[in-house]
Order: sequence, then C-alpha cells, then structure tokens
Amino acid sequence: MSEATQKSVAAPSNFIKTIVERDLAEGKHGGAVRTRFPPEPNGYLHIGHAKAICLDFGIAADYGGVCNLRFDDTNPLKEEQEYIDAIKQDVRWLGFDWQERELHAADYFEQLYEWAELLIGKGKAYVDDLSADEIREHRGTLTEPGRDSPHRGRSVAENLDLFRRMRAGEFPDGARVLRAKIDMAAGNLNMRDPVMYRILHATHPRSGDAWCIYPTYDFTHGQSDSIEQITHSLCTLEFEDHRPLYDWFIKELEIFPSRQYEFARLNLTHTLMSKRKLKQLVDSGLVDGWDDPRMPTLSGMRRRGYTPESIRDFCDRIGVAKANSTVDVAFLEHCLRQDLNRRAPRRMAVLNPLKVVIENLPEEHDEELDAINNPEDPDAGSRKVPFSRELWIEAEDFREEPPRKYFRLAPGREVRLRYGYFITCTEVVKDDDGNVVELRCSHDPETRGGQAPDGRKVRGTIHWVSARHAVDAEVRLYDHLFTDEQPGVGSVINPDSVEVLGGCKLEPALARAAPGEIVQFERRGYFCRDTKSGDRLVFNRAVGLRDTWARIQKQQQQG
Ligand code: ATP
Ligand code: MG
Repeated sequence: MSEATQKSVAAPSNFIKTIVERDLAEGKHGGAVRTRFPPEPNGYLHIGHAKAICLDFGIAADYGGVCNLRFDDTNPLKEEQEYIDAIKQDVRWLGFDWQERELHAADYFEQLYEWAELLIGKGKAYVDDLSADEIREHRGTLTEPGRDSPHRGRSVAENLDLFRRMRAGEFPDGARVLRAKIDMAAGNLNMRDPVMYRILHATHPRSGDAWCIYPTYDFTHGQSDSIEQITHSLCTLEFEDHRPLYDWFIKELEIFPSRQYEFARLNLTHTLMSKRKLKQLVDSGLVDGWDDPRMPTLSGMRRRGYTPESIRDFCDRIGVAKANSTVDVAFLEHCLRQDLNRRAPRRMAVLNPLKVVIENLPEEHDEELDAINNPEDPDAGSRKVPFSRELWIEAEDFREEPPRKYFRLAPGREVRLRYGYFITCTEVVKDDDGNVVELRCSHDPETRGGQAPDGRKVRGTIHWVSARHAVDAEVRLYDHLFTDEQPGVGSVINPDSVEVLGGCKLEPALARAAPGEIVQFERRGYFCRDTKSGDRLVFNRAVGLRDTWARIQKQQQQG
C-alpha cells in the first residue's frame, strides 16, 4: 500500500484510536481527549519510549486534545535532574510540544498524602510494621492466598497517628509502611494490600527535603492521571495487572475516572530495551555514555545520525498492537535510509585511501568538476569538486587479480571516476613487502563528465578525492551493540560494534560540515559529523547503504 492510500483510508489505524473515537461518539468527558507521556526520570529515553511518545502526543493531536509531559518522579534514590533535562531535550527533538504542561508527580505529594489519610479514615489503609521481606513472605503466590499482617486490624486512630509520625520523621527507613487494605486472598497479587507509602530519608530532585515518606509508583501514577483529568492513559502491557488497583483507588477516592489502556512494548532485535540495563552499560564503562552512538537511546541515535522524521515514520509504520512482538532492527535502519536518501547531500569520502597518480596530467593541474548534490532532490543543485594529478581512491576499489564480476580498477582496466574522467591503470607500485602503495594511471581527457565520445563503456564507477585538496578525518563505523539477536543476561558486547578509521580523506567541502550534519558518503553510507569531538573532524556512520530489510521483503514476496 502506498503512503497516499494509507492516509485516505478512513478507518482508525489502531485499537487505541478505535476506543477514542467510540468515546468521542458517546460524548464521554464532554468530547475532551487528554493524554500524557509519563517517564520516570531514572535514565535516558530509548527508542521504545519514542513509540509511546508518538502514540501519546499523536492521539492528542489527531483528536484536538492535549498531551502532558509528566514526570512520574516518586523514587528519589534513582532520579536525577540530569535525566529530567535529557528527557525534555529528547521529546522536543522528536518534534513534540507539551507547551506549558511540564508536570511532576512530586508536585502532587501533598494531595496524595491527603488522599492517603482519607483512605485511612475510611478504614481502607493501615500502617504495617512488617519488614519488606516479611511482607513478601505474607503475600502468598499465584496459587496460594496471602496471609494478613498482624497489624492489619489497627484502629483508624492508631493508623492516623502512626502515619503522621511517619511523615514527621520519627521512624528510620523501612521501619513502617502504609498499605491499602484490600484483599489478601485476591487472585491478582497487586490487590493483596499493596504498599502505598514507604519511609525514605532521602533528598528528592524536585521536592528537596520536604518529605521523608514517599508514595509508591502504584499509589501515584493513577491518581496523577486523575489530577490531570487524563481521559486515555496509555501505557505498556506490564501494567495491565495494575489497572484494577488504579481503578480501586479512583473508586475509593471518588476522583476523576481516568481509564488506562495497555499496548505492546516495542522490542527490537539486537537491542537491549530497558533503562536499567542501559544504565548498567553506562556505569560499567562498556559504552561511552548514554549518547554513545551504539546505544538505542534517543540521544545516542541522534548522535549517530538518526533523524526525528525517520523515528516518527518508524513508529507510525510499526503500528500499535496488543500483543508483544519483536521488530527487526533492519526495519528501523530502512526507515532512516528512506528519509536520508531523500534529504542527505552526497559527498565523496575515501575511508581506506590508496594513492592514484594520473601521469598524463601536469603536477600543477587544478580543475573543478561539477558534482550533483542529491539525485533525489532536483533543488539540491550541484557543487564543484577539485580534481588534480594525485587522487585518493578506496583501496578496495583496486584488485591486482580481479575476480569474476569485479568491475572496478585492475591493471590495464579502465573505470569511470564519479563526476570525472575515465582512467586506466597503467602500473602498480609496491613497497618492499609487496603491498600495493600507489597506482599509476592515465586519464582520457575526452571523457570529462563521465561519457566517452566514441561511445565505449566502462562497467565500474568509483569515488575519489583530490589528494592536494582532501581534508583528513576520523570515521567511526558502527554495528549492532549485541551480536545476539535477543540480547539478555550473559550477552556480551559485539567486539566489532565500532571500528575507528583514522586518516580518512574527504572532499574539502566536508571541513565545513556542522556538528550533527548528515551527509551521504557516496557508496559508503550515511554519516553524521560527531557532536562531541570539538574541532576535530569526526564522522559517525549512521547506517550503510545496503538495505537488508528491503532485501528480506523482496525475498518473502518472491516466496
Ligand atoms: P524501562 O523498562 O526501559 O525502564 P519504563 O517503562 O520503566 O522503561 P518509563 O519511564 O516508566 O520507563 O516509561 C515511560 C512510558 O514509556 C511508559 O508509558 C511506558 O509504558 C513507555 N515505554 C517504556 N518502554 C517502552 C517500550 N519498549 N515500548 C513502548 N513504550 C514503552
Ligand atoms: Mg517504569
């Protein structure tokens, strides 16, 4: 199906949209649509979060609603301002705007505390003195009911007194918790008197030292949605079993009935998709920070050369389903290639240089050739590339003994220089060890622009850079961080996940590439000027040119 037909189809493209349209048709919430993206600021966002962001903001935009950026910042031990700042930068970079609605669950702590007292007053919450281990032991299993805590029967007055003293800081960490009084025999373990508050004498990145008790995620998330009057609270499947608890709090507190809908997490082949595990890679120094270009974080992908457009397109095309599945990372790369093919200017760069001397040109020869900036974009125009007697070509574009179907340079063989002349290899110069160090060639001055007046053809076209004008650069070639298709515990980092090439030779225009600028190195792939190398000219390979996903698709279609 072409993009045009996809857009003209009226039926909603995913089950969440079907639900929203049904609610709108029923006039639910007065026709309002409010969503939120609720990250916990305990790490950097990854490509999985991009799926959630596109869905949360996309649903709001599609139905004239709003989407909040809400930090679910309930755990002072793991959360940091650095993460909050990075998350905001990434969401903005992806192209979404929460306007003035940057919200924090931490700003609701007072309200949540009041609600906790309300539940105590209703006999629906109690202070428990059991330790975390004891609570776990009492919880039972999927096949066995839990057991009541000996403190479950405390009076409202005693619970209120103890809870207030917890807040006042009278007790050490872990001494007591507040629990909801629901049902220790419930089939759903989340309903077996879940913990609502724990004592933590810790400074919070937002509320500072105002609190020494903190609400659990489960006592925060749903009510934060209610406070913000979120109509459609979208989250991933692992929270499905928590929904009855959120609904219980809403019912008991008689607050805005936000409704949660769960969708499948994004999983990608060769990719770890968990902030916790990614943080381990960062902390252990196995990668060069959260924005290492091999990381599936949005900051890493940005540094590598991913565009927001390609990521949004990817999220759009993988869709939103209710069953978990794994997407081939080759499809993500395919989306990037499609975007960059349209937009990235073409440049010439030689990564493994071999010297070519054109003997029928004088020493001082200096000529400019016209090179097209982007054949996919007529508006991109052309540029001049300098051409002279000494050139660099890729070492792999020459073979002394060419195998069958090798159409590039070889002794006596004629090839086309991209945007230039036909050249013929006349002599191979070797060092004492027999390594090829230079090629002597002649060029045909009649073939300027790549055509021979006598109509003779050459089968190979190679890229090149004028040696006198070239600029030196470092180029980093990236591959999957994990060779395992489904990385897990014990998976080791792909030793070839980065290859650093020094002394690469680039056409001179590339010296002016801005950090973050993305170009296609002809025949080599798409490259992004690194943003963390200062004045040094360093390029990261975003993706190569060979589209493995398109090839797989073709094979499947052919059956
Ligand atoms: P992680 O397991 O990587 O730490 P998380 O779910 O704990 O992820 P949060 O900050 O709590 O991270 O997530 C914010 C939102 O992003 C949640 O609504 C969550 O459901 C969603 N999300 C997280 N990971 C994915 C994923 N792989 N695919 C789709 N949505 C995701
Ligand atoms: Mg989480």
